Amino acid sequence: MPVWAIVNQKGGVGKTTTAVNLAALLASRGLRTLLIDADPQGNATTGLGTAKQKLEATLYEVLVDDLEPSSAIVSTSIENLSLLPSTLDLAGAEPALLGRVGRETALRSAVETLRDQYDWIIIDSPPSLGILTINALAASDAIMIPMQCEFFALEGLSQLIKTVSLIQRHIHPGASIRKVVLTMYDGRNRLSQQVEDEVRGHFGDRVARTTIPRNVKLSEAPSFGEPAIIRYPTAKGSLAYVELLEEVLADA
Ligand code: ATP
Ligand code: MG
Repeated sequence: MPVWAIVNQKGGVGKTTTAVNLAALLASRGLRTLLIDADPQGNATTGLGTAKQKLEATLYEVLVDDLEPSSAIVSTSIENLSLLPSTLDLAGAEPALLGRVGRETALRSAVETLRDQYDWIIIDSPPSLGILTINALAASDAIMIPMQCEFFALEGLSQLIKTVSLIQRHIHPGASIRKVVLTMYDGRNRLSQQVEDEVRGHFGDRVARTTIPRNVKLSEAPSFGEPAIIRYPTAKGSLAYVELLEEVLADA
């Protein structure tokens, strides 16, 4: 059961869009898929059409109160796709976990109990390198970094790489950066090309050949509570995610 964490401490680079669409695609291939929303913003939760006010439990209770994850997991409108949801409550996990033994591996412990129930787990993470992102990294077998093709794209990247290597050394040797994905890509734009060259120079063949174009359908779909890949399956952005999934599956 591969566990992929979608991580970048920069905000608005396409983490949630990537997580939600890849998860929906995996599920549509018949793989039992779990999307874990590890971001207090709860964008993946909303983007899958889950009503936050009706949730009985969320990732917060799993991490902080040791609730069994299956008690918080909900099904979605997409067959084979389950969700471990989050709300703003999750912002309280950081102070609650502080000073606790095993605070970096709370999510990993939860994920371990789910091994037999899912074929694939995807973790969406918040735009910070705090305890929630560290939990996502420490729970993962593979890390995917979406990068927006803009001027400051590479800023902060060295800090992320350093955090990953600390986790490899001290918490979970198996965590590794497996894919870097260029998002909101515009091939006609010189800046996009410059960022691409720089990122490929740095990460080599770990950069996905597939780039995700800037596509308004990708940003419209979440307001309908559906991933773009379901609502607009033939949109350019959706087709790019299909191609990205092929690459991920080919490497897996
Ligand atoms: P955060 O760090 O706040 O969690 P994020 O990294 O998860 O953000 P998203 O929420 O996926 O980023 O994307 C940021 C915004 O850009 C959203 O409004 C989303 O709908 C939009 N968006 C993401 N990818 C694309 C794309 N390829 N083309 C156009 N819009 C996009
Ligand atoms: Mg997000």
